[in-house]
Amino acid sequence: MGQTIVVLGAGVGGLIAANSMRLQLGQEHRIVLIEKSRDHTFAPSFPWVMTGYRTSGQITRDIRSLVRQGIEIVIDEAINIDCTKRVVSTKQKSFNYDYLVIALGADLRSELIPGLPDNAYTFYTLDGARKLHEALKNFKGGDIALVVSSMPYKCPGAPHEAAMLISSFFQRQSQSQKVNIHLFTPESQPMPVAGPQLGGVLKQMIESRGIKYYPFHKLASVDAENKELRFEGKTPVHYDMLIAIPPHRAPAVVLNAGITNEAGWIPVDGATLKANYKGVFAVGDITSLSIPGRWNPEVPMVLPKAGIFAHLEGEIAASQIVVAINNGKPAAQFSGIGYCIIEAGQGVAGLAYGNFIAEPHPQVLLRKAGRRWHIGRVLFEKWWLAPLTTRGSIFRHVLNAGTKIYKVPVKL
Ligand SMILES: Cc1cc2nc3c(=O)[nH]c(=O)nc-3n(C[C@H](O)[C@H](O)[C@H](O)COP(=O)(O)OP(=O)(O)OC[C@H]3O[C@@H](n4cnc5c(N)ncnc54)[C@H](O)[C@@H]3O)c2cc1C
Repeated sequence: MGQTIVVLGAGVGGLIAANSMRLQLGQEHRIVLIEKSRDHTFAPSFPWVMTGYRTSGQITRDIRSLVRQGIEIVIDEAINIDCTKRVVSTKQKSFNYDYLVIALGADLRSELIPGLPDNAYTFYTLDGARKLHEALKNFKGGDIALVVSSMPYKCPGAPHEAAMLISSFFQRQSQSQKVNIHLFTPESQPMPVAGPQLGGVLKQMIESRGIKYYPFHKLASVDAENKELRFEGKTPVHYDMLIAIPPHRAPAVVLNAGITNEAGWIPVDGATLKANYKGVFAVGDITSLSIPGRWNPEVPMVLPKAGIFAHLEGEIAASQIVVAINNGKPAAQFSGIGYCIIEAGQGVAGLAYGNFIAEPHPQVLLRKAGRRWHIGRVLFEKWWLAPLTTRGSIFRHVLNAGTKIYKVPVKL
């Protein structure tokens, strides 16, 4: 009997899950993809919009070009999820499901920090990255404060990458003398989830570009009148330009569904991405996937919110559902192996690759910054944004070649 699978969100995880299921399931099974926005934007390229290396149009696509034929696309906002009655509602319609994949990502909530909404630039949205580019071009000089306002946040490499790209932006214009870049974060080190060794190397990498790094700084408020940042338990810090990564929260429809943990994210099984409700899976930024052996209530260690994991989790959830429907062999399970390409400016990038959930320590190493990782990132962007109809041919070869490079044993 035909089953109905509803996928909520057509970002990284939702697109991968829906496309992957469509490829593997017969047409008697219905796949409905619900997304509130008609356009898909490629967030890893927002920092390039910030520095003028990309325009908005270059990294935005109509969702329909990225979705396989045979998937019903519903452009509407999901407003209710009922995991008991197994129904989701949008503003226009309700959908009963046999299987549900929740891939609704994380919302940015600047208003949770007093003074932040009106006084900080951000490169965490496309519009924000565009505005920040204009502001950087017109900056007269002084202290740029780049602040990770709270945990967790998407892409643990992004603040370091942004700091290095901004440094490179001013260097290109021979204006590096006029800016001081400061990176503040509540974390103990860069990318704590990847372990102390990688954190140390990444810290060296940013400091060698003249960026000052301040761990253990939790933003409490912004005093725009005096251009000061108030951090918990620290003396106020002056800034001339403020760039912030706003607090992240699950979208309201998920919070209201009563399916989140105390931290406000959907807990899932680390191997299968199953949530605690019949037929329900969650993938990507909306999930909370605690790392075995590294869970500490004081410093919760969870899998980072990152596109690479949303991508891999989308594939795993799809495979679990396909196998369940077809009564097939045990499905693929999530391994925790992922990578992060960190742009360092001047056309080079570093690569962090390894197992982020290995016990008792992560096995992730940072490869020396070089041009090939930067090229790899450009190629991946091109592949991701290519219409599905052309992806299969040349881009598949490129991706396969790239994947082989990434899988070379990693040495410092
Ligand atoms: C500046 C920046 C740089 C990044 N760089 C990298 C990188 O280099 N590498 C990496 O791995 N990751 C990177 N990331 C992180 C990556 O983009 C995210 O982790 C990834 O997009 C998460 O995928 P997702 O499917 O969980 O959520 P998303 O891709 O955010 O998709 C969620 C979708 O749900 C939709 N939605 C939300 N609410 C509703 C609703 N109520 N109804 C209908 N639709 C809804 C949204 O419109 C969105 O399309 C970066 C992120 C940023 C912001």
